[in-house]
Amino acid sequence: PGTKLPKVGTTIFTVMSQLAGEHGAVNLGQGFPDFEVPARLVDALARAMRAGHNQYAPMTGVAALREAIADKTAALYGHRPDPDAEITVTSGATEAIFDAVHAVVRAGDEVVVLDPAYDCYEPAIDLAGARAVHVPLDPATFVPDWARVRAAIGPKTRMLIVNTPHNPSGAMLTADDMAELVAIVQDTGVWLISDEVYEHIVFDGARHESALRYPALRERAFVVSSFGKTYHCTGWKVGYCIAPPGLSLEFRKVHQYNVFCTFAPAQHAFAEMLREEPQHHLGLGAFYEDKRDAFRAQLAGTHLRPLPVPGGYFQLVDYSAVSDLSDTEFCRWLTIEHGVAAIPLSPFYENPPPGQRLARLCFAKAQSTLDAAIERLAGLQ
Ligand code: PMP
Ligand code: GLN
Repeated sequence: PGTKLPKVGTTIFTVMSQLAGEHGAVNLGQGFPDFEVPARLVDALARAMRAGHNQYAPMTGVAALREAIADKTAALYGHRPDPDAEITVTSGATEAIFDAVHAVVRAGDEVVVLDPAYDCYEPAIDLAGARAVHVPLDPATFVPDWARVRAAIGPKTRMLIVNTPHNPSGAMLTADDMAELVAIVQDTGVWLISDEVYEHIVFDGARHESALRYPALRERAFVVSSFGKTYHCTGWKVGYCIAPPGLSLEFRKVHQYNVFCTFAPAQHAFAEMLREEPQHHLGLGAFYEDKRDAFRAQLAGTHLRPLPVPGGYFQLVDYSAVSDLSDTEFCRWLTIEHGVAAIPLSPFYENPPPGQRLARLCFAKAQSTLDAAIERLAGLQ
């Protein structure tokens, strides 16, 4: 039939999880927690199903959940989005990103993405008939070079996609970065996707710079988050998008014919969770900071060199002391020969930096899983 996505194969996350399964490897590749979902949330889900919340949810999301998201957003970022006009519950952040692109991007447009970039952005852009314009982040720090971003924006630019905390690097945008972003997009017709799925997983006292804190950004932004990251339930696929009324209206036109609505019982469960345990997400940073610190201490006993991790649940390691293989080859070899699955960085780039020897390890794992991985990684010479 020919292909509409010639550059796309099976995602690296699926490829590496499959390889990990085939070889009995400890899977630090695909990003997902291997510990329990909060018991209250599981109980709430079961209760929602027993209470009969098993038919279509409202297209925009269960009202109680949108209210709870509005309250939480107000408490965190000092801006309360209108739950009726500005919040849409989606089937994960992936659906939200797809819908946001298709809501505003037309054939022939350009969308600026910062490399390395999460893998779902470009296919959504391609399917809209538009073109992704890739601007590299600093290869050492993964911080944006705003002069290059500015230079990439031209008359065809419809959208810019940012992600903080950043997957795969964990880098976070600072208040200075946000000021640069405001200066770049203000008085342009450029819309923004701010992918903030790791918004609560931030370390060392840093503040998450949500686009929602900045009036000049939130008036042009689709701000995307995911309950999967916050409640250890990536398989439930529930997220949401906050955007001003005009953008939300267009967003919902896509959402309603993409999925119509999101899994109803989980929406009731999250509404209850946010109401009953409004502090849950506030503990997430400390929870993962402990994991990060323990894992980094363990990595010190290997020949892998860990890069700084300001946020998120991924640890980048430089493996140049143990291997000169390309990152894709190295991750296959590590999985098959040493029993630890990792994610190479090159699939996150249009043009991977030549000679870059980095792999991504997920530390959203029980200590026993990390111990098993470290035991194997310690054998690398
Ligand atoms: N954006 C980023 C940066 C991610 O890391 C992920 C998932 N790992 C997503 C979006 C997609 O989130 P969801 O699973 O809720 O679709
Ligand atoms: N976002 C997860 C990661 O970065 C993977 C999600 C997926 O497999 N689609 O590992």
